[in-house]
Order: sequence, then structure tokens, then C-alpha cells
Amino acid sequence: MQNKTKYLVTAALPYANNYVHIGHLAGAYLPPDIYVRYRKLKGDDVIFISGSDEHGTAIDMAAIQEKVSPQEIIDRYHFSNKKAFEDIGIEFDIFSRTSNKIHHETAQEFFLNLFNKNILVKKTEKQLYSEKEKRFLADRFVTGTCPVCGNTEARGDECEVCGSNLSPLELINPRSKITGDIPVVKDAVHLYFPLGRYQDKISKWIFSKKDWKQNVINYVNGWLKSGLRDRAVTRDLDWGVKVPVEDNEGKVIYVWFEAPIGYISATKEYFISINEPDKWKEYWMGENTKLIHFIGKDNIVFHSLIFPAALMAHGGYILPDNVPANEFLNISGSKLSKSKKNGILLKDIVEKFPPDVVRYTIASILPESKDSEFSWKDLQTKNNSELAGILGNFINRTVVFAKTKFDNKIPGRKNDDEILNLIKDQTQIISQNYDNFKLKDALTETMNIVRAANKYFNDTEPWKLVKDEKERCGEIINNCLQICYSVAILIYPFLPFTSEKILKILNSDKTNFKWDRIGEVNLDSGKELGENQILFPQIEDKQIEKEMESEIESDSKQEVNNNIKKNSEDSSGSNLIGLEDFKKVNLRVAKVIECEAVPKSKKLLKLKLKVGDKEKQIVSGISEYYKPEEMIGKLIVIVDNLKPSKLMGIDSDGMLLAAKKDGELRLVLVDGEIEPGAEVS
Ligand SMILES: [Zn+2]
Repeated sequence: MQNKTKYLVTAALPYANNYVHIGHLAGAYLPPDIYVRYRKLKGDDVIFISGSDEHGTAIDMAAIQEKVSPQEIIDRYHFSNKKAFEDIGIEFDIFSRTSNKIHHETAQEFFLNLFNKNILVKKTEKQLYSEKEKRFLADRFVTGTCPVCGNTEARGDECEVCGSNLSPLELINPRSKITGDIPVVKDAVHLYFPLGRYQDKISKWIFSKKDWKQNVINYVNGWLKSGLRDRAVTRDLDWGVKVPVEDNEGKVIYVWFEAPIGYISATKEYFISINEPDKWKEYWMGENTKLIHFIGKDNIVFHSLIFPAALMAHGGYILPDNVPANEFLNISGSKLSKSKKNGILLKDIVEKFPPDVVRYTIASILPESKDSEFSWKDLQTKNNSELAGILGNFINRTVVFAKTKFDNKIPGRKNDDEILNLIKDQTQIISQNYDNFKLKDALTETMNIVRAANKYFNDTEPWKLVKDEKERCGEIINNCLQICYSVAILIYPFLPFTSEKILKILNSDKTNFKWDRIGEVNLDSGKELGENQILFPQIEDKQIEKEMESEIESDSKQEVNNNIKKNSEDSSGSNLIGLEDFKKVNLRVAKVIECEAVPKSKKLLKLKLKVGDKEKQIVSGISEYYKPEEMIGKLIVIVDNLKPSKLMGIDSDGMLLAAKKDGELRLVLVDGEIEPGAEVS
């Protein structure tokens, strides 16, 4: 027993400033849950670990912007995500959080180990310092003008307009994002992890792995080729794990270094919770453990290069046995995929559809070797024709037959049919798929067994035998019921809720609920069956269309909200406004008295307008649609109280109203004659 393999399976730590969406589910959570459930059926020694990643500048920044504490932000997302995982049946042994004390201690211990061995390197670098705030500013805490595109609100780490990667020192006119203070450049001391020194060791280790997925190896190769660079492990921030070394006040351990140590802390926490506080060592330090990190492709570098290098530096810990990273799951649909990407939140979808239907749909399109696409239509088809049409159908027809022809009891059996052996043989292929992390193939083979079961029912025609050969008919139905039990085991990794339901329908329990009992006789003859139920009710077109519409709605609503936010500071986010708000906009009739094209501009016209007693000038981008001469004399509608601005250096004092769609633009004009300056309401 001592040499038995242990499995330590981890799922990526979700960052606690966002809700988990179905792209995350497909990349890092459903695959390990399926894998772990299979291992448990096999009787393997396995624990399944994850938790919220709760530090870093993004959380601190979100807290500042929302005017709440970072604790409030992380609580919101941690508890919501935890519940969504439970609802969809992701069964962690522990879902911890990196804000827990045990993690702070573990991460500090790890850091000190490297520091005391003089592995960490001290470097002095130029950094922006706020005299007013008395601290160095981390990159995200600086804003300024992008040197590439001129965006005046570029972030210290990147420009969101042109996508350039930046450092705060490259920004023109940098200022503190929090106080607006103009920082000065000062020498700052930081500790670095010398990743470059581990390049050879890491390469050797990685290339000794023969069973890693090709996509993972490809990513790793790319990084190794460009050379591993030293990375800072300290950062100027209040929120996080304090650097446990003198002369580092106001610094925390960089989150990329500290977060993956969360896997170790969570394992400790789990074993403390079951009163075996030292047992975590058997998993992290014992040679018989297979450490498997399930992640999305954006995390490959951390889990297959950087964290292993840190583990090597520390010593004593095992290294990952495999990192079966997945590609991305996108949402199909023309506009949606671009603007929203994976925008379907886990917490929302589990409220609308049964968890097993979502699990099945996602499992059948897992992005194991390339990106894949989710669509609502596909979810409907998978439910109606596969889950209901194949799986639900087999269970239902078998149970209904036993109920009506055999008094709701399990009929007797004498001879064995080949069918059970066939199923047993098939499980070897499925096992291989699981062992190689080919979960999509495992699902296909699993469903093929259910297809074969339906074929067996059809070919043996029990409905014909029931009159004259009732005993033979009973044998067939007994076989079918035994298959139902095997199917409950087989589908358990993918469809745990349905598996439970089948056991209930069979009035059975988990005594024989093990992988090696598939294809065996697990149900006693003569026993009464439980109550039948429809496993997969049909999903109607209406339900699916509703989801597709609400996607589009929320998409365009988001656009409206964004526009409102851009234009007014205190938007409540709703797109309804009160009369008071409308009255704030001063709309008036204006008469165009002069109009000319703006030199060197393809779009702009300069208009001189009469508005009541005054004259004003507006610059408007309508020259593709109207010639200057045809504008003169028109009665148009303008926003009279818009803040003046400059377009190509020309003053513009207001805005005219026009209707625009699909590259066409038409002015809003007044019907008939009215004095310029008249109020529009
Ligand atoms: Zn830019």
C-alpha cells in the first residue's frame, strides 16, 4: 500500500476580481473534475485542490475605484465563484483562498528559504515615486499619455487603446492614478528571482517528459528559445503577502510568485481540516505523487516553467508530472465572439439549465488541442438528441418495460449474454483516454456504449418475446438493467447528477459503484425498482432563442452603458433617464448662415449658425454626406449647452443632431418655419 501512486490534482486559481465564465469552466475546472471523479471510481488516492487568487494590483485598483476595501472585492467573487462551482458539480476537496493566514505563512516561508540561500538577487532600478503618497508607485497605479498613440489615459503597464506594452517610465506626463500627484523618478531596490539560471535545468526536465500535450510543449519551446529572464519578486503595494525581510517596508511578494504556492497552502489547510496536519507532506514531498496542474493556455508559462523553477530553487518539493493545459473556448455568434468572448457567466448558466446538460455540452467541445466554440443551439441539440435521445431513452425504455411486464421488479437471469463482456472490454479504451487526458474521446466512447445498449435492446426485440418466451425476455431486461447500473458508473465523471438519479430509479446504492464493476452483475433479481423519472426534459426553441436574444441585448446595453459612463461621471448604469436629466440638455433650433469645408479634413464642415440673438460656430463630421452650399439656410437642431471643444484646432461650440445607420447619415431638420433659437423639447 505504501507505494501506491497518489494524485494531487490542481485547478487554476481563479482571480478574485471577476466571475468565472464558461470559458474558464472548459479550460481549467470541468476537465480536472471529470479526471478526479474517474480516479476516485478507480479507487485511486487523489485530492483535488483549488482556491481564489486574491492579491495583486488589479484587486487593489478595483477596490479603490469602487471605494470599498479589497476584502469586499475578494469576498464578493470568492463566495460567488465557490457557489457556482458547487452548483455545476465541481467537487474540490478544498477551495481555499490566498488571503488565508496559512497561505501568508507558507508563502513567506518559501520566500525566506530562497532569500536565506542567497538565491534572490537585489537590483536597483529607476521607478516612479510619489512624494505626496510617500511611496513608489506600482505600474498599474500610474497613468499618463501613451508614447505610441497619444492616448492620455494609458496605464502604466499597457495602453488599452493601441495595445502597446509600456513601463511607467515611458509614459508622457505620468501621474498617480489615485491622487493625481506628479511622481518623481527615484532609485528603487527590488529582489529578483533569477529564472535565467534555471533555464538548463528546466529544459532538461521538460524534455524528459514524453507524455505532455503538444500544444503545451510548443508554448514552452517558444519561451525557452527567447530565453528565460529574471523576474522581480517584490512589489510596492499594501495589499498582499508582506515581504518577510528587513528593509522592505511597503512591499509585498509579487503575485505571480506567491499565488501558485497557494496550491501548497490549500493542501495543508485541507489536511488540517481532517485532523492530519502533517499528511500534506506525503503529497508534496513523496516520490509517489503525480502532481497534475489543469489550466488554460494563458497559464502555461507559470505552471510549466516559472513555478517548477521556484520549486527547484526551494528543493524538497515534487515537480508537476503533467500540465494538461487547454486552449480557449469561444462563444459563437457574429458580434458576440468579438466583443464578449467568453461572456457567459457560470453563475448565470447554472440557473437556467440543468448542470449536467451544461457539463455534457462543454465536455463534448473541450478545447483540448485547439480553440473551440460554444453555441446555445448546440446545447439544445446535445440535450435533445444525445442526452434525451440516446441516454435518457435507454434508461427509460428499460425501466418502463420492467415496470409494465415484470411487475416493476428485476427479472431473473440464467445465461450470460456477450453484451456485458463487450461493455467491460470497452472500458479499457476509455481508461486509456482518461490516462492520456483525452476526455472528449472518453465521452465519445462512453456514449458509444449507451448506443450499443440501445442497439442490443432493438436487436433482441424483448417486446416480441414477452408473450411466448417470457423467461428469455426477462434475461434480456435483466441485462439491460445491469447495463443501466454500469452506465451510471460510466457517466459519473461527466454527469454526476444524472448518475445519482439512475441509481435512484434502479432503487440501488453505491455498494458496487466502482470502475471495475462496469459490465458485472450488480443488481439482484427479484428486487423492486424505484420510481421512474424523465432524465432530460426537452429544451424548446423558445428557451434557446431567449438566451440568444438576451445575449445580444446585454451586449448592446453594455455599449450604451459604456457611452453613458464616458459622457457622465455619475451614471447609474440604467438606460432610462428622468425628465430632469433630459431638461439638462438644451436643444435649440439653429439656422445655418455660413458653411465651409475644413481644410485637410475629409469629414469636417465648419458651420456658422444663428441661434436666437447670438451666433455660434460648430464643427461637424458630415462632409461625406452634405456639401457646404446645400447646408446654407437649413433649420437644424443643436445641443446648445455642450462643453466647447476643438476639432483640428477649430473651436466647436455645440453639436448638431443627425440620424446615422450603416454608413448613411441624415440631418434632423425642423418641419416648416420657426424662429432660430426656439427650444426643442
Ligand atoms: Zn497607445
